[in-house]
Amino acid sequence: MQEQLRKSDTLTVIGELAAGIAHEIRNPMTALKGFIQLLEGSITKDHSMYYQVITTELQRIDSIINEFLILAKPQAIRFQEKDINQIMKETVDLLTAQAVLYNVQFVTEYNEQLPAIYCEPNQLKKVFINLIKNAIEVMPGGGKITISVKKAVNKRIIITIEDEGSGIPEEMIKRLGEPFYTTKDRGTGLGLMVSYRIIDEHKGTIKVKSEEGKGTIFQITLPFDGSNSIN
Ligand code: ADP
Ligand code: MG
Repeated sequence: MQEQLRKSDTLTVIGELAAGIAHEIRNPMTALKGFIQLLEGSITKDHSMYYQVITTELQRIDSIINEFLILAKPQAIRFQEKDINQIMKETVDLLTAQAVLYNVQFVTEYNEQLPAIYCEPNQLKKVFINLIKNAIEVMPGGGKITISVKKAVNKRIIITIEDEGSGIPEEMIKRLGEPFYTTKDRGTGLGLMVSYRIIDEHKGTIKVKSEEGKGTIFQITLPFDGSNSIN
């Protein structure tokens, strides 16, 4: 127990330090981005590819720092009884514009008979956003995302998000949730890590079923019998 306490203290210190560094990197980054933009007009054709690489890489650093800061930011965590349908509906509304843009259609199935669950709604929303965004991103030509919220027998609610994207090779599935694991040019590999942590904090589970070339199903289960209350 003692050992565990000490370990988590150390982790907090490292977390704060990392957040501090991330914050400090932001200022020079802003300056860099500004001056690079000013240079755009005077870049010769020969150098335009270098310019392109510089801007994309700067953007990449920027999104990693931003996502990291959101992650490290101490948020007011307020667990409360909440209707999971409502949380999912708000998330879907939030992402509809983006889905239309990418030619993606949402098919939703809700179960209005579900009991409220004890949860942190904003955190769960963050998880749903991450998973649905990944599903959109994996279907560049558009397609269908099926989102369902239903009740399971063993005092658990099951939420599934299913896409028709490229799927995930079997040997890669175990790497999901690893910090910075990404297969995208402009990915951060932080979305799933955060999502796994949040679901863990809710005493839930995340499972991935995927078939290459066919698509992927993310399945989340959350207990609704109060067993996830923080003591
Ligand atoms: P990012 O989206 O920034 O890459 P994530 O943590 O959200 O980071 O996802 C990590 C990786 O997991 C992705 O780069 C991708 O390879 C894989 N992945 C996640 N969701 C899906 C999905 N629905 N279909 C296929 N691959 C996925
Ligand atoms: Mg992602």
